[in-house]
Amino acid sequence: MAQLLSGKTVAAALDAGTQAAVSALREQGVCPTLAIVRVGERADDIAYERGASKRCRTLGLGCRPVTLPAETTEAELLAVMDRLNRDPGVHSVLLFRPLPKHIHEDTVRRALAPEKDADGITDGSLAGVFSNTAVGFPPCTAQACVELLDYYGIDCTGKTAVVVGRSLVVGKPAALLLMNRNATVTVCHTKTRGMADLTRRADIVVVAAGRMQSLGAEYFSAGQIVIDVGIHWNEASGTLCGDVRFSEVEPLVKAITPVPGGVGSVTTSLLMAHVVEAARRTL
Ligand code: NAP
Repeated sequence: MAQLLSGKTVAAALDAGTQAAVSALREQGVCPTLAIVRVGERADDIAYERGASKRCRTLGLGCRPVTLPAETTEAELLAVMDRLNRDPGVHSVLLFRPLPKHIHEDTVRRALAPEKDADGITDGSLAGVFSNTAVGFPPCTAQACVELLDYYGIDCTGKTAVVVGRSLVVGKPAALLLMNRNATVTVCHTKTRGMADLTRRADIVVVAAGRMQSLGAEYFSAGQIVIDVGIHWNEASGTLCGDVRFSEVEPLVKAITPVPGGVGSVTTSLLMAHVVEAARRTL
């Protein structure tokens, strides 16, 4: 049986740290506050907004929802971002994407001040990951992968890691964060040849392919640490599942994250931790 790397345990530890940091900041007259910018009425965004607002309240953070109609122009949205950038009472901004098609997402994304970029979407934040410096914040999901490793005492130094996926949100930043922890990293994508040979030989495999249950036992070997970033609704079984075929892979490897209850559980806790750190950096 593989060790289960529970994200819920990691999230609880992160939340305890966040609560303590919020108390300390409030004593200094600072209430770490997250603005949540939503354009339109996408059901996914509304559900996430509800969850994030509740988490803010539970942990003692301020939350400021900014809800705009779907017809909002790019200029209007840029004006909102500018106002939030300059508002000293707002420490971080969460911008829901995708934005409506008439708005250039890259333009709006780049308009956010990196110091308020708790979700790691700006070029400044990505540069911070690239240079291993505290500019902005790493994308939460990518950071969740390495937080799990850190929490369970898995030292990356000298280990080989394979990341499946090269998106800006998960794969690429996860690869850099692993490299920053002294792992030797290979990144795989849809044009990679012989991927199973690469994944099977790695000490750590991070799977962020976005393809439901696409990696079975043939991609893994004994002794490995597997971080499954994928999250999908499986109509057939009526359950959430990952990119990895858990029932095949779990008996084979040394440790693995479950889905649900793995990477996804850590992501929102990291967002909250980033808001608090953004507030702390203003002192
Ligand atoms: P994405 O933008 O679709 O990127 C997927 C990446 O995987 C691409 O780089 C793609 O390669 C690569 N890929 C796809 N199929 C592959 C295959 N068969 N072999 C090798 N590489 C393959 O997805 P994403 O935004 O990075 O998200 C990845 C997964 O994480 C999704 O399941 C998503 O739901 C999940 N996710 C979870 C959380 C969370 O909180 N748990 C948050 C965000 C995302 P190419 O570049 O060549 O196309």
